[in-house]
Amino acid sequence: MKTIKIGGGCLKGHEVISNIVDLIVQRGRGNVFVLSALHGITDKLLDGIERALKDEDEIPAIMSGLKDEHYSLMRHLLKNDDDFERLQQELERVFLKIERYYFGINFTRELTPRMHDIIASYGERLSVILMAGILKSRGENAGYIMPQDAGVITDGRFGDATANMPATSKNFEKNVLPLMQFSDKILFFPGFFGISESGEITTFGRGGSDYSAAVVAAALKADILEIWKDTEGFMSADPNAVPDAKLIPILSYEEASELAYSGANILHPRTVEPVRKSGINIAIKNTLNPDGQGSLITEFAVQADNVVKSISHTKDIAVLKVYASGVGLRQGILAKIAGTISDAGINIKSVVTSQTCISLLLSRKDIDKAHAVITNMKPRLYRESEQVIDNALISVVGDGLHNHRGIAARCFTAVSEADVNIEMISYGPSRAALYFLVQENDLEKTLKALHSYFV
Ligand code: ASP
Ligand code: MG
Repeated sequence: MKTIKIGGGCLKGHEVISNIVDLIVQRGRGNVFVLSALHGITDKLLDGIERALKDEDEIPAIMSGLKDEHYSLMRHLLKNDDDFERLQQELERVFLKIERYYFGINFTRELTPRMHDIIASYGERLSVILMAGILKSRGENAGYIMPQDAGVITDGRFGDATANMPATSKNFEKNVLPLMQFSDKILFFPGFFGISESGEITTFGRGGSDYSAAVVAAALKADILEIWKDTEGFMSADPNAVPDAKLIPILSYEEASELAYSGANILHPRTVEPVRKSGINIAIKNTLNPDGQGSLITEFAVQADNVVKSISHTKDIAVLKVYASGVGLRQGILAKIAGTISDAGINIKSVVTSQTCISLLLSRKDIDKAHAVITNMKPRLYRESEQVIDNALISVVGDGLHNHRGIAARCFTAVSEADVNIEMISYGPSRAALYFLVQENDLEKTLKALHSYFV
């Protein structure tokens, strides 16, 4: 049995979705499908929270916006009027709940993380009900089960939950496997959320349906996790920046994680965690070219000739530099500064330290808040601080990078021959990646130079 994830990027436009429904019928029977919300719906649900908080009169417009998208798709895909009506009634009951939550937020003028997650989770609930209804109407043996009924158990952290795999696997044996005893069954499963031990809906963070799919695959001991997208797979660089970038047909868990973390927009960075332990491979498949090769992620991948498989990058990087003397000698200073920032709910991407400076790598959206938080620290443990926001982070990724002599030297030679200055380097923590920062203006030049050198 496979677990197949279909992303929100693919669930966009009537023709495209109609094509995906055909693909599910042709290639999907007997498997579990983890779905995202329809494209843009999670954003609409969250935007609805802001609008509902401000003005009760906004709520009808929010609701009709959500309904229109789902119903117009149904109208396109459902030829039978009775089936249309039945499905619409089922969805109306769900929309009514969403509407009540919006009114609740408006009346109480209060938005808790708990309520935020409840509302965010509805995009996925709607998409599985919709898809199961459409496939049933085509005569398929289709159905769905919600994560709270299947028993996807989380640690209860709102907006950033992690699955409890032993508990989830046990629940799946009881609640999900029996549903798959028919070889033609098509079971839809909403991604993005689970339920805590105490019964709270908790989401896995934005883009978290990939992670959900990995949790489902591991809990079901699936033969493979397929991720259906509208792209071919992992590339040797972003083709927008490097036109001769190539598809990477096979890569290791380690390489895929590094690329996901460092900006390749193919997989949610946490997807590899749950499947890796069970040795389940991940295949990226293009719904627009289903017979194409795609990318396969597996435990042992063939090493690239030049060791380096991909040069990825992100512009979503800012550096908070904290100057203090004797960083390496003063116990606890790093922990206190990093702790203060993460206690404020800010994610630290990475830390690089020297004896005089701690550099914290953050997302650009978080830099001002992080800077304010450490400025208010008492006692203040450092001398000076500054923020840098005009950098880009480049990652050179390939298994074996660290036991091949000369890779770093060749990498930095290529960069310096392109006349680019390197601002900061991190080399060593990962076996499969080397990171450095350059000025954002130099980004394209650097990527092209490295790509033509290595790939
Ligand atoms: N629908 C959620 C989001 O937009 C989860 C996902 O699509 O992966 O973040
Ligand atoms: Mg997604």
